[in-house]
Amino acid sequence: MSASVIDFIATEARFGARNYEPIGVVLSRGEGVWVWDTEGNRYLDCLSAYSAVSQGHCHPKILAAMVEQAHRLTLTSRAFHNDQLALFYEEIAALTGSHKVLPMNSGAEAVESAIKSVRKWGYEVKGVPDGQAEIIVCANNFHGRTLGIVGFSTDPETRTHFGPFAPGFRIIPFGDAAALEEAITPNTVAFLVEPIQGEAGVVIPPAGYFTEVRELCTANNVMLVLDEIQTGLGRTGKLLAEQHEGIEADVTLLGKALSGGFYPVSAVLSNNDVLGTLRPGQHGSTFGGNPLACAVARAAIRVLVEEGMIDNAARQGARFLQGLKDIRANTIREVRGRGLMLAVELHPEAGRARRYCEALQGKGILAKDTHEHTIRIAPPLVITSDQVDWALERLATTLTQDFS
Ligand SMILES: *Cc1c(COP(=O)(O)O)cnc(C)c1O
Repeated sequence: MSASVIDFIATEARFGARNYEPIGVVLSRGEGVWVWDTEGNRYLDCLSAYSAVSQGHCHPKILAAMVEQAHRLTLTSRAFHNDQLALFYEEIAALTGSHKVLPMNSGAEAVESAIKSVRKWGYEVKGVPDGQAEIIVCANNFHGRTLGIVGFSTDPETRTHFGPFAPGFRIIPFGDAAALEEAITPNTVAFLVEPIQGEAGVVIPPAGYFTEVRELCTANNVMLVLDEIQTGLGRTGKLLAEQHEGIEADVTLLGKALSGGFYPVSAVLSNNDVLGTLRPGQHGSTFGGNPLACAVARAAIRVLVEEGMIDNAARQGARFLQGLKDIRANTIREVRGRGLMLAVELHPEAGRARRYCEALQGKGILAKDTHEHTIRIAPPLVITSDQVDWALERLATTLTQDFS
């Protein structure tokens, strides 16, 4: 390692809050599926910034839209209209079949905004007594890091010593429709759930689960809120993961790839009812819906569709998954995934997933462990067959090693 690499990592550790434990690589450039470190080594990015860089690093058309808009107008606040917001609304609503849009910045803000909105809907439309609204969530969920959200996490690391937390949440097992049916009360306003649990290690629910969930929510006048911040916008091989079961959420949350990684942009999409309850002054964000964010998001959505990235995710995802299944290694307990949202779960005896990620780094692949024994694989949706095969070769040689 050169002195400068040691410097970046040591300086981060010295001054920064130590709330992350990054793999020991310092990146300075990205293009498409590739990133380069400060020494000029090239890596295939198999994390895509947790699916935010689905369109590939520094996509030229998103870059051009961002630069063009930055020259013209970046921020007005919502005190005034701007000439990008309406176009963003129109395009995202047409793409997803939504009626109303609330623009925010981070994913967690979209989740918080949805929680506020469904509670308000519960009181003003469903008729739940004030202060009694209940929201059902799933064990092992990941919806972000705000106080409101970590309060209903089941991960001790996420919650410990951050309380006290807000009441009003009920936790049920993921993938269990009977548990949802049992948990619903007259005060239930929403069921907040990920179509596939990403941070939990790419956990796919049983087939038919969401069809049953949709029926239960409809029958009980409960809003189905799908957190598609990670699964949405093509990651699983469909525009929205809900399409795999042919259902429609009442509220859909988008973030991450909504900007192709250029800028934090998130959105709450809903039917008329839920976001329709918000009145002026009741919710807001200084940066939410700013013209720079809207211009970037419009370009990010356009290239996703026009360049066939969603179909490519389905095609290359199937190739990648099959290739992973074909690897004969005693270290592998299970391989799973949908589209380009993939995971390799190792046997606990095989050693920590982090060791395998570090070995992959040495072979030119950046991947990230999750929960000790799982390697998550989520390359940009622009990956080619040759690049998938290139990655599979390296994964095969790494996974047949023993790091226990
Ligand atoms: C990443 C993520 C979030 C939080 O997004 P941030 O932009 O980090 O706040 C919420 N929900 C899911 C499913 C996510 O993957």
